[in-house]
Amino acid sequence: MTSDIHLHINKVSKRFGTVDALRDVDLKIERGSFVCLLGPSGCGKTTLLRIIAGFEAATKGSLILDGQDISNQPPHKRGFGMVFQSLALFPHMSVARNIGYGLKLRGVKGAAQRDRVEELLNVIQLPHIADRPVSALSGGQRQRVAIARALAIQPPLFLLDEPLSALDAQLRDNMQIELRQLQQKFGVTTVLVTHDQHEAMMLADELVVLKDGAIRQSAPPSQIYNNPADSFVADFLGAANLIEVGAMKGGAIDLFGTPVKSSPPHRDGEQMLAAVRAEHIGLSTVGKDDKAGVGAISFMRDLGAATEFVVTIDGKDLRVRRTSAQVQGLNVGSKVGLTFDPSMVSLFKAP
Ligand code: ATP
Repeated sequence: MTSDIHLHINKVSKRFGTVDALRDVDLKIERGSFVCLLGPSGCGKTTLLRIIAGFEAATKGSLILDGQDISNQPPHKRGFGMVFQSLALFPHMSVARNIGYGLKLRGVKGAAQRDRVEELLNVIQLPHIADRPVSALSGGQRQRVAIARALAIQPPLFLLDEPLSALDAQLRDNMQIELRQLQQKFGVTTVLVTHDQHEAMMLADELVVLKDGAIRQSAPPSQIYNNPADSFVADFLGAANLIEVGAMKGGAIDLFGTPVKSSPPHRDGEQMLAAVRAEHIGLSTVGKDDKAGVGAISFMRDLGAATEFVVTIDGKDLRVRRTSAQVQGLNVGSKVGLTFDPSMVSLFKAP
């Protein structure tokens, strides 16, 4: 498949006084894709979204939309659809008038406006409450109205800044699925800011992990999860165990008795850090003569579908997660062997 770049964020930097909010951010966004900007507080996510929207100008770099430089275009000329945490709906206006608001501003009137609003009401499954004021809706319904209003104008880009963070966990979960379905239905190129890794994993085609204003990794979620680019990404994306494993020797490190190889760029003598996810550590019963890789269970908790353990080995606590069928007969205090699949271990140079 040939790539079809819709928006190129071309080496964008942003400085506020002495703060480098963005450093040389270069990102090519494919048409119709869902991109999530993920990172800890202050990493520059919102600044990048505001630059894309046109509310903020880049200090360096440019924005290329469909091959055109739009860096100097004001927000209203860009015509992007936006949903922010605050939603900014008009509380006393009806659902239908809220959805039609952007169309009205663009001069879409009469039957054309009515048809489009009706179409959107059906998509968000709220046609029965079209005349109700927004102030009389639930949190999830309001969210859907805000999304419908942003999409009614058929925007070239759809931008969302933490749109679901005010919702409770269950509603948020449902809205993530709905949002993803709506985005796919409309095929609109979407950029969403979140600091919630589960949300980002759930929604994104392309996940962009930022730290201190710079991109640490940009790839599909499963690739980032299984092949994190560095120890920050490994740790940020879902509680990896980060283990100081000593120096590389003969192109491999010793992970509690399991040799794990690393091809260059890592060199012999370098102090290494291994990242391994809780669900990628196996537990085995221990024979009398086993020494290497033997730890003791110091905590366990049944989560229903899986069991979560803390296994203490050589003074280190590792988190292990197994399905319930794999953990028969284990208790706190049990001695267990730890097994590792080397292909599921990521090695990094120790910082
Ligand atoms: P959060 O998740 O907390 O919203 P963020 O990743 O969205 O954080 P930004 O809001 O983009 O981060 O901020 C990036 C950096 O730029 C921070 O250090 C912030 O303090 C700084 N910053 C953002 N806006 C301004 C501004 N208008 N003036 C000065 N500094 C700013």
